[in-house]
Amino acid sequence: MRGRAGQVPPAVCALSTALVVLAVSVPSTVAEPLPRAAATGSAARPAATGAPAAGTAPADVPGDGLNVTMDVLYATGSAAGAPPEAAGGTAGEGTGGTAAGAVPDGAAANAAEGTRTAAANAAQGTRAAASRAQCRDTAYALAGWRVKGTADWYYNPSGAPAAVSRTALAAIGSAVRSLVGASNECGLPAPFKAGQRYRGATKRTAAVSTSSRTACGTEDGHSVVAWKRLGSTALAVTCTWTRSGQVVSSDIVINTRYRWHTTRQSRCASSFDLASVLTHEWGHAFGLTHVSPSQHGTQVMASTIPACSSVRTLGAGDHRAMRTLYGVR
Ligand SMILES: [Zn+2]
Repeated sequence: MRGRAGQVPPAVCALSTALVVLAVSVPSTVAEPLPRAAATGSAARPAATGAPAAGTAPADVPGDGLNVTMDVLYATGSAAGAPPEAAGGTAGEGTGGTAAGAVPDGAAANAAEGTRTAAANAAQGTRAAASRAQCRDTAYALAGWRVKGTADWYYNPSGAPAAVSRTALAAIGSAVRSLVGASNECGLPAPFKAGQRYRGATKRTAAVSTSSRTACGTEDGHSVVAWKRLGSTALAVTCTWTRSGQVVSSDIVINTRYRWHTTRQSRCASSFDLASVLTHEWGHAFGLTHVSPSQHGTQVMASTIPACSSVRTLGAGDHRAMRTLYGVR
């Protein structure tokens, strides 16, 4: 079993460091980018605190105990150094993809989502098979923080791609309800004793720098979900500010370089399911971190997600992680 509570890392982790390395180095794939054990070593802390670039705050502010962690989700198979336009450019949805036909939502919906790009999904020929695989895998990893009380959050719709501009908020809300509500197809108990509350639209931006490289900015006391064109190939980034193991705020940025959808696509080649990605990002905000996508690809917290795949419900590992942190009602 990986990533048990005993391996909880310092609140400042090496994920930001890993991103930096990936962003400036060879375009290796990130199929297994961030084994958590690697982030638990003592070397992680100085590396992370030394990471700030122009426009970013120090990861640690001496004296007030505020830590910040950046977690990055990549598309499965994406090259970290390559421009992501290939994944989200002008190629029409469905071109070059495997059109799965008009399989309706329901039992076979997961199988209808078109091209699978990763071996991680080999077991997902049907939704039932996916559920079983998701329910057998109990691996999880904890980030070292939790939400105390209710996570209040805001949404900044500015820059949302037209394809999802009217439906994105619902998908984001549905994702956080899926997480705290312990939505699962494994017969596991629900909901968790965790709270969230949407506080409305905001013009505040997410404190995630997009200039020379992606980095967390200065915490402003508001948790914001926002759209930005990130320079990196990240699908989405979550910055979580914590103090003494409790979340102060979390900002989630969704990368407008990619194509997004909010309803199941009968023809899908290179688009990503917003609710699936956001369920993952909310996982970070509530204290979960990555598991290996090659070994635990059915879990929400796998660190990569293939285009066109849907992982909106918690796997057994995701559930155990949340249950460990919050318990069930
Ligand atoms: Zn992540």
